This record gives sequence, structure tokens and C-alpha cells, in this order.
Amino acid sequence: MDLNRDPKFVASQLLLATSLPDEQIFRELDAPSYTDIDYYRMACHIIFECQRCGNCCTTGDPIRLRQEDVALLARGLKIPLNKALKKFTIKDPQRAGVYNFKHILPCKFYDQSAKGCKIYQLRPWSCRIFPFLGIYGSEDRVVVNELCPGSVRTMKILKEAIEEVRPDANRYKSNNAYSAADVAAVRSAKLFIRETLKSI
Ligand code: SF4
Ligand code: SF4
Repeated sequence: MDLNRDPKFVASQLLLATSLPDEQIFRELDAPSYTDIDYYRMACHIIFECQRCGNCCTTGDPIRLRQEDVALLARGLKIPLNKALKKFTIKDPQRAGVYNFKHILPCKFYDQSAKGCKIYQLRPWSCRIFPFLGIYGSEDRVVVNELCPGSVRTMKILKEAIEEVRPDANRYKSNNAYSAADVAAVRSAKLFIRETLKSI
């Protein structure tokens, strides 16, 4: 196993990363700020192993698209943006400016025989953050998708790992006077967890 994906290591980094708020660690003006819940979502992604059951791509509807998602798809497929919009999307009836993939189940980009996505590098953000959906920057809880066996398993593994490593991590929560080394360790843990957003 990749040691960086070991659940106990990830859990210890998660507890460390959430022991101080981002605002206290990242002073750079352009640094994005994440909530504790965001870090839990990212930690889930690190541990997650897709079971390749296909439930998400065969039953997920609607699949939400941001403008950037359609633009990425158009660029990747080398077609004009308006053609991509017309061919693949419909306007969300409830949200202005939001698009969904046209209602087709399974998703037209799902490869039944390979049990995978035909446009993996071009897939939209909502597919990238599945199955740990939620709005980044909010305190909304991590949603476990019961249709996704991989997510249920991941949550169980992460919860158990957190309970195992919590006693070791408690010193960061109870110590009000963080040393420079502690702060550096918290920053490093946050950066480690954030790194996963680049690969999902
Ligand atoms: S775009 Fe790809 S990942 Fe997203 S639902 Fe379709 S097949 Fe699945
Ligand atoms: S439902 Fe979950 S485990 Fe199944 S293919 Fe989708 S992401 Fe993977």
C-alpha cells in the first residue's frame, strides 16, 4: 500500500490539519480557505477506492455542469462551445445559469464493457468530487452516497482510523500555545490533504 494512503496516516494528518483554522496558517492573500468539513472530504478522497460497480454513472441523474465543465469538454473534444452546449446539455429547470447533462441513463460517456468513463480527463467537477459531494467552503456535512459501496467503506475505514490515532493527536487540540514546529506541522498536514484536489 502507498504509505501516504494508509488510513491511520491520513487520519493523523487530518486531525492535525483541522487543529487550527486555515486563516491562522495561510497568510497569503490568494490562498484558498477550506473548512474542517472540506478537509474531511479531501481525506475521504485520499483513502477512497472505487469498486467499479458503475452505480454512479448508470443511475446518477441529473449530472450537474459548471460553465467550466462544458468548456473543458468542448476543448477536449475539439468542438465549439455552443455545439457542446447543444449536443450534451440542458438548462437546469430550477437554477439559472446551471446546466445538466441531457437525461440519458446510463450516462452517454459510460463505457459498459470497461466499466469506466470514456472522458475521464474531461469529466465534470460533480463527477470528480463524487462520492463525497458537498460545497467546498461550506460547513455542510460530508454526504455519504449509499448507492456507492466505495464511499460507505471509506467512511467506515476513516472513522475507525481516526478513533485509533485521536489520542496521539489530542495534544494539538489541547495545547493553546503552539510552537513554531507545531504550526509548521499543521501547515504541512493541510498541504498534504489539499494536494488530493489536484488529482481528483
Ligand atoms: S461523465 Fe464520466 S464519470 Fe461522469 S457520469 Fe458520465 S461516465 Fe460517469
Ligand atoms: S458508485 Fe462508487 S464504487 Fe461504484 S463506480 Fe461509482 S464511485 Fe465507484
